[in-house]
Amino acid sequence: ELTTDLLNKWMAVFAEKIEANKAYLSDLDTPIGDGDHGNNMARGMAAVEEALNTKKPADLTSALKLVAMSLISKVGGASGPLYGTAFLEMAKLSSSETDLAKLAEAALLGIKKRGGAEPGDKTMVDVWSAVVPALAEGKLTEDIIQQAVESTKPMQARKGRASYLGERSIGHLDPGSVSSGYLFSSLLEVEE
Ligand code: ADP
Ligand code: MG
Ligand code: MG
Repeated sequence: ELTTDLLNKWMAVFAEKIEANKAYLSDLDTPIGDGDHGNNMARGMAAVEEALNTKKPADLTSALKLVAMSLISKVGGASGPLYGTAFLEMAKLSSSETDLAKLAEAALLGIKKRGGAEPGDKTMVDVWSAVVPALAEGKLTEDIIQQAVESTKPMQARKGRASYLGERSIGHLDPGSVSSGYLFSSLLEVEE
């Protein structure tokens, strides 16, 4: 169950992981993209932390909305609107549902609708679509997350910038899948 308190802790840990791995994420984005994913996400998560800590939203829906808006306005690129949509969909559902698996499922549907990617296209959808059923079964582990992240390496990208490279996108981890992996590893850490 997601609460405002848990969301605050979750975002704080995620922001730390993004900041600590900023250079790594941008390096991953260099051979198959434009080398900005770490910088994009670090700018966005700094804005999320700033917004949560200054505005201190009292209820879960406002807090999720604030996360979404900060990501949409500050991350940029392809990933900003996609992460933003994920949190916006969670915000919408959160007035009637606070189960994390259900919220994550709504977020995944939003990401797929917005970006048109399906599992196997070498995008963050590969991680989200492995995590959502595991969350629903209450069996999300770090292993499941890492396997989903690693699964993007042999894939050929069919969406986003990496798709411009065709077969040359094979053999590289998808940066947005790695950052999504951090999102869910952070969740596991704060849920303990
Ligand atoms: P940009 O490619 O605009 O520079 P980023 O580098 O911040 O944006 O983000 C790239 C990541 O966004 C990719 O690694 C991939 O995971 C994700 N992505 C790109 N396009 C899509 C899409 N259509 N659907 C889902 N995820 C996508
Ligand atoms: Mg990029
Ligand atoms: Mg870019």
